[in-house]
Amino acid sequence: QSQELSQVQIDYHAALQALVEDGTRMVCTGRMHTDRICRFESLCYSTEAEEFVYFHSNSSVMLPNLGSRRFQPALLDLSSVEDHNTQYFNFVELPAAALKFMPKPVFVPDVALIANRFNPDNLMHVFHDDLLPIYYTMQQFSDLDLEARLFFMEGWSEGVHFDLYKLLSNKQPLLREQLKTLGRLLCFTKSYVGLSKITTWYQYGFVQPQGPKANILVSGNEIRQFTKFMMQRLNISLEESSSEEYIVVFSRTINRLILNEAELILALAQEFQMKTITVSLEEHSFSDIVQLISNASMLVSMHGAQLVMSLFLPRGATVVELFPYAINPEHYTPYKTLATLPGMDLQYIAWQNTDREDTVTYPDRPWDQGGIAHLDKAEQERIIKSTEVPRHLCCRNPEWLFRAYQDTKVNIPSLIHVIRQTVKSKPRPKKQKWSGSLYPGKVRDAKCQASVQGTSEAKLAVSWQIPWNLKYLKVREVKYEVWIQEQGENTYMPYILSHQNHTFSENIKPFTIYLVWIRCIFNKNLLGPFADVLLCST
Ligand code: UDP
Repeated sequence: QSQELSQVQIDYHAALQALVEDGTRMVCTGRMHTDRICRFESLCYSTEAEEFVYFHSNSSVMLPNLGSRRFQPALLDLSSVEDHNTQYFNFVELPAAALKFMPKPVFVPDVALIANRFNPDNLMHVFHDDLLPIYYTMQQFSDLDLEARLFFMEGWSEGVHFDLYKLLSNKQPLLREQLKTLGRLLCFTKSYVGLSKITTWYQYGFVQPQGPKANILVSGNEIRQFTKFMMQRLNISLEESSSEEYIVVFSRTINRLILNEAELILALAQEFQMKTITVSLEEHSFSDIVQLISNASMLVSMHGAQLVMSLFLPRGATVVELFPYAINPEHYTPYKTLATLPGMDLQYIAWQNTDREDTVTYPDRPWDQGGIAHLDKAEQERIIKSTEVPRHLCCRNPEWLFRAYQDTKVNIPSLIHVIRQTVKSKPRPKKQKWSGSLYPGKVRDAKCQASVQGTSEAKLAVSWQIPWNLKYLKVREVKYEVWIQEQGENTYMPYILSHQNHTFSENIKPFTIYLVWIRCIFNKNLLGPFADVLLCST
């Protein structure tokens, strides 16, 4: 079955002439392959060679023009996972004149976003690696609007969560396999290649054990803008004042089970005096789950990809992540990192089963479901005796898989105890109001005046004006930090002050040049920028 590309008619002869005459034009952002996204006009793809093709002509442009560094190791990452060697993008080059000898190009009239999905069968990967990065890549380039078309080049079939990818644009996303049905040589009129990594918060442990990314650049606000968009596309209304408060237990039905789920639900309902409901990906539609989670007071779940759904929790809600025996919660923190992103406003609680009696292992299952029967006897014994999986790299560590796929009988008193250490009263979502924290601007008109008393004493009177933005803000506490540094010294004397002027006399020497640094601080921890340094001579 051939795929309808678009209702938009294009003038085929004009398009072909433009391709032959102008060739391919590429301008990219980013200095390295890991932060690069490229915009192309007339980028082509040979479905036979399974290669992208760049056509040179008199008008073609290639920026950056890297020469052979384009292969060291690649022009860019096609997925949002950093520098993964199975996710590289490159093209082969040809002179536009070669088009004469090639199959007739088929033009793609839609603006295209070309990327790789990383692991479309795993919900955490779907949201973290694909949906959020695609959404914000589309936000970055104004012609990637709802009429743009997504092209997934990783080579997987649709996968179980394909409906989610469809929400990102009004056009059906196309997969690599489907391109063959469109023609032998496809030419994208306008396309963007690559994904923004700006929203990702976790690295999966390909080069060092997994953990939060070193430099997280996303806050709860951007996450919520994304979930708001997704909910609109799913036709889910944001209920501002839902009457009843409730707890959601997100269960897994195939593996990593909670063995005493009924008991757990009763205990939670009783302890928090709230309705408690269970959902699972197998038994509920995605929209129903989103609808329920978006109004929940607490989400309780075994560690696992389904916990990425805490994206949809209302502010103020609590996430309780349950870890099987021998799995240290500190070593596996994708959902903790999500819940504790700045401005996410979720409370995060981890509980771990520490009782061997309460775990059920499956040594005889296949290796990818945590079986260890294929290992030698000594190694099997070591794993079974071990009380904690040591830190490891992704993705096939048998000890990790063995422990990750255990079932757990949750020790209810122990779980309630850890939840109660954080949740003192009734857990409840907060009113959905914006509460971003704003930073002060620079202090203004800083001045200093020195006075010398005798040969050994001096004073420095320093004054400044409030930051410009303060007059429009209600700020609980405004303080100023002043550093006084003698010129040429690398130490300084710091002061925290409440007023806009101060006379310094301690350790101030006559006939000396001081550098004075001043910045404003809102509410103890919102540090503003330093104003231009003030040079003061006594
Ligand atoms: N999954 C599920 N129920 C189960 C087991 C798995 O819904 O009983 C889902 C899970 O949420 C994820 C995918 O299947 O989206 C793959 O699960 P896996 O255990 O491989 O990954 P993990 O959850 O550990 O990231």
